[in-house]
Amino acid sequence: MENKFEGACLCQRVKFQVRLVNLKMHVCHCSMCRKSSGGTGFAYLYAQEAPEFRTQDTLSSYNAVGKAERGFCNHCETTIYYHNVLDKGYCISISVLEKLPENDILFNREWYYHDKPGYYSYANKTQKS
Ligand SMILES: [Zn+2]
Ligand SMILES: [Zn+2]
Repeated sequence: MENKFEGACLCQRVKFQVRLVNLKMHVCHCSMCRKSSGGTGFAYLYAQEAPEFRTQDTLSSYNAVGKAERGFCNHCETTIYYHNVLDKGYCISISVLEKLPENDILFNREWYYHDKPGYYSYANKTQKS
């Protein structure tokens, strides 16, 4: 299996193709990932190489601490990737990837779990609607 997938931001102005290392979904609960994604964690799949962008006129990046570049669409604000400048890898936002084989995705790791605020856990019993 080649693990090559298409991705796009919400407004479709940023489009890319990326080769994933595997289909293991990780979530980072660190304060910067939560702030940047605006959610309860940054859920991603990992790529060793940079995405190949087809359109990227509205792609911007922000580097808060010198080693972590965060790519996003500056029109619709979708988070596209987190790039660790030191290890060269790219964490690709899982929800910008299209046509993922849902049953083959394995959610198996939560980073910075100790930084997670106490008001949520993915194991919470919640009302599903
Ligand atoms: Zn966009
Ligand atoms: Zn993080």
